[in-house]
Order: sequence, then structure tokens, then C-alpha cells
Amino acid sequence: MSTYHAPLTDIRFALHDVLQVESLFSTLGFDDANRETVDAVLDECTRLCEGVLAPLNRIGDVQGVRFDKATGAVTTPDGFKAAYDQFVEGGWTGISAPTEFGGMNMPHAIGICLEEMIDAANLAWSNFPLLSHGAVNALHHHGEAWQKEVFLKPLIAGTWTGTMCLTEPQCGTDLGLLKTRAEPAGDETYAITGTKIFITAGEHDLTDNIVHLVLARLPDAPEGSRGISLFVVPKIRVARDGTVGERNAVRCGAVEHKMGIHGSATCVMNFDGAQGYLVGQPHKGLMAMFTMMNTARLGVGVQGLGLATRAYENALRYARERLQSRALSGPKLPSKPADPILVQPDVRRMLLTCKALTEGGRLLAYHAGSLVDSAAHAGDAPARQEADDLLGFLTPIVKGCLTEWGNECTSHALQCFGGHGYIAEHGMEQLARDARITTLYEGTTGIQALDLMGRKTLQLKGAGLRVFLGMIEGFCTEHATDAALAEFIGPLREKAGEWQALTRAIVERASADPEEIGAAAHDYLFFSGYVALAYWWARSVAVADASSRSETFKAGKRETARFYFSRILPRTLTHAAVIASGPAPLLSITDEALDS
Ligand SMILES: Cc1cc2nc3c(=O)[nH]c(=O)nc-3n(C[C@H](O)[C@H](O)[C@H](O)COP(=O)(O)OP(=O)(O)OC[C@H]3O[C@@H](n4cnc5c(N)ncnc54)[C@H](O)[C@@H]3O)c2cc1C
Repeated sequence: MSTYHAPLTDIRFALHDVLQVESLFSTLGFDDANRETVDAVLDECTRLCEGVLAPLNRIGDVQGVRFDKATGAVTTPDGFKAAYDQFVEGGWTGISAPTEFGGMNMPHAIGICLEEMIDAANLAWSNFPLLSHGAVNALHHHGEAWQKEVFLKPLIAGTWTGTMCLTEPQCGTDLGLLKTRAEPAGDETYAITGTKIFITAGEHDLTDNIVHLVLARLPDAPEGSRGISLFVVPKIRVARDGTVGERNAVRCGAVEHKMGIHGSATCVMNFDGAQGYLVGQPHKGLMAMFTMMNTARLGVGVQGLGLATRAYENALRYARERLQSRALSGPKLPSKPADPILVQPDVRRMLLTCKALTEGGRLLAYHAGSLVDSAAHAGDAPARQEADDLLGFLTPIVKGCLTEWGNECTSHALQCFGGHGYIAEHGMEQLARDARITTLYEGTTGIQALDLMGRKTLQLKGAGLRVFLGMIEGFCTEHATDAALAEFIGPLREKAGEWQALTRAIVERASADPEEIGAAAHDYLFFSGYVALAYWWARSVAVADASSRSETFKAGKRETARFYFSRILPRTLTHAAVIASGPAPLLSITDEALDS
């Protein structure tokens, strides 16, 4: 079975040393989020993750959720409910929610760290509380006062959970195709009718009520994505004064049998004239849902990070213990029958790839988390706008890259186990299976790439990119004469220049041929992700060197940064070359010739 020990040293390094969150939080008005409190929260969450959630990870995989066709009830795996009750009692569901509705108002940057640990401990379980955050955000931003009063308190307290109901059989990526209808009932409520599929936590036994946020069309709705409205539809009806009534006409019709996250309930939800309330303006539901999706996208990126971290921990332990073959330069442990596989350069390649992508990825994700806080609470409007621009630009990178790297790292970690990685009892194949979903839900990697290239770069004229390039330039200038960092500063500056030039070139070509965008998007996403990580690695070395941390820790950062710059960053060369080839290699071949 795979184990999980939260990487607290690196989490604290990222938060306190590199991102210096204590002073950021105090400028943003989070007076209670001092270092002592943050560390205490991290310690407490570690206990919960290691002691309660991680031991349920395999049980959830083996048992999965159970569905009773006769009643539509879904039963979660053994131990999931008790763990959820403990989670609720500890106040974890409201950790970064507004105090006005019973939350603790901790910064989102801390929420992201906790999510990383919870996801790593038990991804399937983590999906039950995950979508409540999104529902809280959507209602908080777009709901009427009474809706906030009635729905936010139980969602934040965790006594109810939330869902996000977008997908239908004929409509996944393209939400303009959705058919679910909302008919006015004449009493300020709507009758919602339609079938939603793949709904995470659509039905379960963890709470009495479930608050579905549902996209549907009003009778006079225009065609396409402009005609979609958002509704709140509780499983058990709730009146405007908060009185809980009878069962609503919404029911789980089936649960999906999946490749991974077996303990997470993925439900077909049938709405049969269910009573719902409009959230926000008619026909503006997609915008409201985007509030929810953006939070969830960062959250799914962090799922990739969590799984990669756990996979690395286990692969490293195994590589130290497993004795096979001798080092190429001669025996390292002559008294033993063989050397540990850790001495083999190829095994170190896989392990270091995991270490470089997870520790660099952690900074990418936590920084994005801190931007959520700055975008909402920075003192002046330009600072809030700048944070928002950068957050918008980084969100598809966090979601797209961290989930793909999560798949890469869980695969490397499984490979380190050899054939034993393929055998269920080690738990490595579960991590690889569980990681696979992260590149699909909340918008596939292809859709993240299009969001980055199309919306965040072309439509918004690269506002977020400019902020990030400014950060890189500021860092490079600050350390321009620092001989110890020269090996990183030069290549980083060069890559930042290439990033800017590449962006300009794509934008220019796209004005002549729109297919350029789709053809370049995937490689542009990864080019961007790798340069962003180069910045975080260079900065990690600078910060570690200047700190009072141990020499081993400092060397760990420096050597991993060297590995990153020499063995991972060059992937950008391939991405740039692919982008330069344009759409022709993809589009010239006729559809018929694809199977000729
Ligand atoms: C386990 C699980 C849990 C889920 N949870 C939820 C949930 O809670 N709520 C919810 O509403 N949905 C949920 N989903 C649905 C999920 O978000 C969708 O599956 C996903 O968005 C993709 O939609 P699709 O499956 O219809 O694929 P499609 O949209 O049919 O896409 C198929 C392929 O075509 C590509 N593609 C499509 N359009 C474009 C384009 N314009 N440009 C480039 N490529 C394109 C996609 O990238 C993909 O590779 C869940 C799915 C799963 C499997």
C-alpha cells in the first residue's frame, strides 16, 4: 500500500520563505493568518490526512461507491462518512470561507496547501467537499441575499455539500449545446427538467441535503452559450426563509464505473420538474458558473500536484530499499548482494523529474492561490486588477500543466517499482489511475490550452503574461551580479525573451490564419509552464541560499534546479519547434487519408 507523509518542510519553505505569505496576508487584512496560526493549521491538517484520510484511500478504491437502483441512494465506502464527520467537526469545510457565513476566512493560499494534502491522502474522498467550495463562491458572488443566507451557512458548515451540474450526454466542452429546461412556476421558482451526467458527489450518504448548481435554459433563451442560466436546486426543497421541506424531484439514475477515483460518486442526475431558484441574471449563467469553474480548476491542478507528491515519496523510499544490479562505476554496497536501484542514473532521472515538477509546481500553485487573495483584497484597484490578470493567465497553466505532470510523475513513480508497480498491493497503479481523470474534468488539457492561447493571450492582449514577465525581469535584475546564481539567471532571462517573441509570432500568424491558435495552443501551454517553473526554481535557489536552512536542504534545491534547467527546461525547444511548424502538419492530411 502506498503511504503519505505531508512534505511539511517544503510546504513551509514555499509559503513562508519563498512567497513570504505572513507579510502578504497582513497587508491584505488577514490579521489572524500569522505564521504561528498557519503552522498550527498545517500540523493539524497533516494529522487528519495521515491518520484518517490516507488509510481510507485503498478501501475507497477496492469498495467504490454502491448504488441502489430501487431508491437511487448512493453509499460511500466504509469509513468515508466518519472521516467526513470528523472533517466537519474540525471546521475544515469553512477554512477559507467568509466569517459572515460561519467560515474562518483563512487566505485562499492556505486553502490550496490544505487541498494538496487532502488530495494526496485520498483523492476520491476529497471530491466530496471540493465542489462545495465552488458552490459557495458562485452563490457568494452571484446569489441574492436570501440565497446566501439560506445556502451558504450549511455549505460552509459542511452539513450540506454542493455540486456543479453542467455536463449532459450531448454537451461536454461545448456548453452551448445544453438542453436542460427551466420553466417559470409562477411563484419565483422554476421547474428544472433534464439529465445531467458525470456529476461528482451528485448523490451520497455524507450529508442530508445536497445543493446542486445547475445550468439550464429559460423558455425565451437565445440559442447557444448566450442562453444559459444558473439555478440552485437542492435535493431536499428549501424555502426562501430557510425551512427545509420535502424531497425535490431530482434523483440519481446511475453511478459510473470508472478507471480510477472509485470512492468518488460520479452520478447521472435526473431532474424531473425539480424546484429551483435562479442565481444571478437570466441568460448570464455561464459567467456565474465560470466563478465556480475557476476555483475548481485551480483545485484540480492541485489534485495533480498532490498525487505526484505522494507517488514521489513512495518511489523514493522503494528506490532506497530495492536491491538490484550494481552501479555502473562499481559496487556502492559491496557487503550486500546488489546496490539499491537509487544508484542507477535512469532511476534518478525519474525521481528527479518528480522532485523538480512537484516542488516547482507547488510554488506555481501556491502563488496562484495567493493571487486569489490579492485579486480580492489588495488595497488599491490597479493592484487588484494586476493580480486578477495574472491569476487568469496562470489558472489554465496550473490546471493544464500540473495535471499532466501529475500523470507523468505517477507514471515515473510506478516505473521505479518495476513490475511491482503494476501490482495493486503497492498502491502505485491506483495513483496512476486516479491521476488520469485530472486532465479531463474541469475542462480537458486541450481546453486549458485554448483558454490560455485564445482568451488570456489574444483577447486580453497578454495582460497576465506581461505581469509574469515583469516578475522574471525584476528577479533577474535583482540578482544580475550574483555569481552563485549566474547559471540560472542567464538561461531564465533568455527563456523569458523567447516566451515573449513566441507569443508575438503566434499572435501575428493567428491574425492571418485562426487555425494557428488551435495548432499552437497545447505546445504554448507547456512552453509557458516550463518557463514559469524555471523562474520558481531559480528563485527557490536564491531564497534557500539566503536562508538558515540546512546545507542538505540548500544543496537539494540547487542540484534539483540544475537538473531542471539542464534536463527539463530543454523541452521548451521541442515545443517552440512544433509551434513554428504551424497548422499544416495537422490539417493537410484529409480526413479520409487518416485511415487509408
Ligand atoms: C469522473 C468525472 C467527473 C466529472 N465531474 C463533473 C461534474 O461534477 N460536473 C460536470 O458538469 N461535469 C463533470 N464531468 C464532466 C467533464 O467535465 C467532461 O467530461 C469534460 O469537460 C469533457 O467533456 P466531454 O467528456 O463531453 O468531452 P468532449 O467535449 O466530447 O471532448 C472530447 C475531446 O475533444 C476535445 N475537444 C472538444 N472541443 C474542443 C475544442 N473546441 N478544441 C479542442 N479540443 C476540443 C476535448 O479536449 C477532448 O479531448 C466529470 C467527468 C468525469 C469523467
